[in-house]
Amino acid sequence: MKFNIQSRGDNDSNILSQKIKSYLQEFHLEYDEKEPEIVISVGGDGTLLEAFHQYAHRSQETSFVGVHTGHLGFYADWKPDEVEKLVIHIAKTPFKIVEYPLLEVIIRHNNDQKSERFLALNECSVKSMEGSLVMDIEIKGDHFETFRGDGLCLSTPSGSTAYNKALGGAILHPSLASIQLAEMASINNRVYRTIGSPLVLPQHHTCMLKPKNNVDFQVTVDHLNLVQKQVKSIQCRVAEERIRFARFRPFPFWKRVKESFIAE
Ligand code: NAD
Repeated sequence: MKFNIQSRGDNDSNILSQKIKSYLQEFHLEYDEKEPEIVISVGGDGTLLEAFHQYAHRSQETSFVGVHTGHLGFYADWKPDEVEKLVIHIAKTPFKIVEYPLLEVIIRHNNDQKSERFLALNECSVKSMEGSLVMDIEIKGDHFETFRGDGLCLSTPSGSTAYNKALGGAILHPSLASIQLAEMASINNRVYRTIGSPLVLPQHHTCMLKPKNNVDFQVTVDHLNLVQKQVKSIQCRVAEERIRFARFRPFPFWKRVKESFIAE
């Protein structure tokens, strides 16, 4: 089996990555940065997000597993002292694949026919770079509301515990193929009115954001910051593709939520 290791780049993560690499090579697994079947991220959740974006074009052929060198992560859930066990699992056992939904984001521009497509593992957030964000929000092609405020966040179920949670969004189990729209400080008065609650949309329900004014936007896709000029629309829905995680032992989602936010 071909593998690659993505390190956060700090000293501890580099040393651990090197150790995992030589252990796996001792088991005659092939190191391949181009077409790995499994990618081991060593660092934190941000490292796994980077690894995902590096191989997003190979979503059906690549599985991910995360080792954390700091605190327990949502995606990085193996401890550094468990890597020998992890290596034996990877080398010796056919592993189970667990698939989680992704968010598809298509950005269209005013004076350009070309659109840009992104996949997000956590979320896409949109903020105006000058003044408040004013956006028409369409759901399944119908106008739903005109938003005015700081910004909007569209998250995946596995990303619901990240930025979305800080915005008061619900935590969704990743078995629910859905996306969640959460507001950032909406202005609500007699002129502007939004629903005020996070919305959860099922598969095939498209959420379209259409800017009302001609301003530039700060768009994030996971850890990536993109500046978008002359945006006509931002279209979000559940992607056809899914991320594949290699599972070697059960670690139920709700247990992870409890251990991350309440107590071990
Ligand atoms: P970072 O270093 O600022 O890390 C942000 C934190 O988010 C880390 O503690 C990480 O463990 C955690 N995190 C990432 N994905 C998670 C998930 N799915 N569930 C629970 N926690 C998760 O930035 P980074 O490492 O580059 O990660 C980018 C992510 O940061 C974005 O995708 C976004 O979700 C998150 N973020 C959060 C806030 C906030 O909570 N106010 C603001 C901006 C970005």
